[in-house]
Amino acid sequence: MNDQVEQQDVTIYRAKKILTMNRSQPEATHVAVRSGRILAVGTEEQAAAWQGARHDERYADKVLMPGLVEGHCHLHEGVVWLYVYVGFYDRRGPDGKIWRGLKTIDEVVARLREAQGALQGGKHLIGWGFDPIYFGSRRMSVQDLDKVSEDRAVVVMHASMHLMNVNGKALEMAGIDRDTDIEGISRFANGEPTGELCEFAAMFPVTRLIGNPFRVLGQSPECLAMFGQVAQVAGVTTATDLVNELHDEGIMSMAATTRRDDYPVRIVPAASGMFFGRDTEACMNKLALLKQNNHDKMRLGIVKLVVDGSIQGFTARLLWPGYFNGAPNGIWVTAPDDLNYIVEQYHRAGIQLHIHTNGDEATEVALVALERALTLHPRFDHRHTLQHCQMASPAQFRRIAKLGLCVNLFANHIFYWGDAHMEMTMGPDRANRMNSCATAERLGVPFAIHSDAPITPIGPLFTAWCAVNRRTASGRILGESERISVASALRAVTLGAAYTLHMDGLIGSIEIGKFADFCVLGSDPSRAEPEALKEVAIEGTMVAGHAFEAPGKH
Ligand SMILES: [Zn+2]
Repeated sequence: MNDQVEQQDVTIYRAKKILTMNRSQPEATHVAVRSGRILAVGTEEQAAAWQGARHDERYADKVLMPGLVEGHCHLHEGVVWLYVYVGFYDRRGPDGKIWRGLKTIDEVVARLREAQGALQGGKHLIGWGFDPIYFGSRRMSVQDLDKVSEDRAVVVMHASMHLMNVNGKALEMAGIDRDTDIEGISRFANGEPTGELCEFAAMFPVTRLIGNPFRVLGQSPECLAMFGQVAQVAGVTTATDLVNELHDEGIMSMAATTRRDDYPVRIVPAASGMFFGRDTEACMNKLALLKQNNHDKMRLGIVKLVVDGSIQGFTARLLWPGYFNGAPNGIWVTAPDDLNYIVEQYHRAGIQLHIHTNGDEATEVALVALERALTLHPRFDHRHTLQHCQMASPAQFRRIAKLGLCVNLFANHIFYWGDAHMEMTMGPDRANRMNSCATAERLGVPFAIHSDAPITPIGPLFTAWCAVNRRTASGRILGESERISVASALRAVTLGAAYTLHMDGLIGSIEIGKFADFCVLGSDPSRAEPEALKEVAIEGTMVAGHAFEAPGKH
């Protein structure tokens, strides 16, 4: 090899312990890095075999593991912090500030009023993170939000992002009234809209009005920076943007920002199939063009489809016996017939699909569409992935295994909405099997676990804690037999997620040839008590050989 410039660049990092996630060499103490990639892993002697190395002791008392991989989140996480947080749980912003959770609708109204007082001019007021399921039968209505303002549009996104509440001014500006004929507009008994809008069709007149900031701003340098900060603090070095509408300027902006050495995360955007509907040709042409901007830290290629809505918003599609509290079945975001067609087109063209299915009826129609496409056009190693797949039955998991599909399960749901699922949406039987990591593992289904940030906070060690303990916010354990080991959960947030992105050859373990992406920890998570897994301190990350310290660590 005649690569002298690179040869001078070898740095050997010593750590208290290196957890490689590579089963053929699970532990090490030294890792050598050259040109942003891992050159050697092992003992001091093994690493020193590479000549001319510089020794770096900064991690001497730390534990290194592969950089964590968030297989399902959204760049909206970087946008939401431009707006007012009105969620139920405390949440940490990019600047480290903790926003207190709001426990009543009146507290939500009060925080919005305060924010509206600080707004200049005729701007809309936007809140996010709201979740009425914690307030019993009391729903937020147009009257509540009219107390915030009658002169400017007030828009409150629900935590699921599948619903919103708006005030009278917003309804008026969006042209929604008692005569508007769109599915998903909630109404009072007298036919007037309540201000609650369910799913994308009903929300569209309002999102158009406010310029759809969650879609447009995510790729701006400012919001990408906020996203990077939030992800980095959580130890994440690769994150997805799982619904990207492929706007040229947005992708260019993302390509430029992520390419910088000081940008702390690799981003994997998935093209929004929903945005292109049955025009799969248009999506694939756009994708082919924009993929020319791909580089080591930005990788387009996956297409994301959405079949149904959210369970806690009662817009997910459920099989018999439906919702536990008797709510009507949910909404098809993509109708089954369209899904059959769309899945076949992308599959035949060799595209990898990530398909959102929350309810078990949505999982069912996705399985039918995928079975059909795979029968017509057999394909090896497609790695199509069901995203969320929260309610799948054991029989559905067996079909998932036979079809060679992956799943990315929404483990955080167990903590945040597990009690609500038990009491309202699914009832005890189905709540106990939700996000069945152990079933997936037993059946050999490759699986990851995720936060869906900003739906829940990004934090793979917390997500792993959820899958290991299955403890709800009120402290009950949901489905003991679906708990997995700490080792399996750590694999799910590294190699497991990397596999679903078809990137397990590049990230997810500390192995020669892979990117030098590490998560720096204060202690060894593989030795943590299961209940303490979420407390393991994240002290920083390394991405492509560049070190990033968690704020406040020196
Ligand atoms: Zn999502």
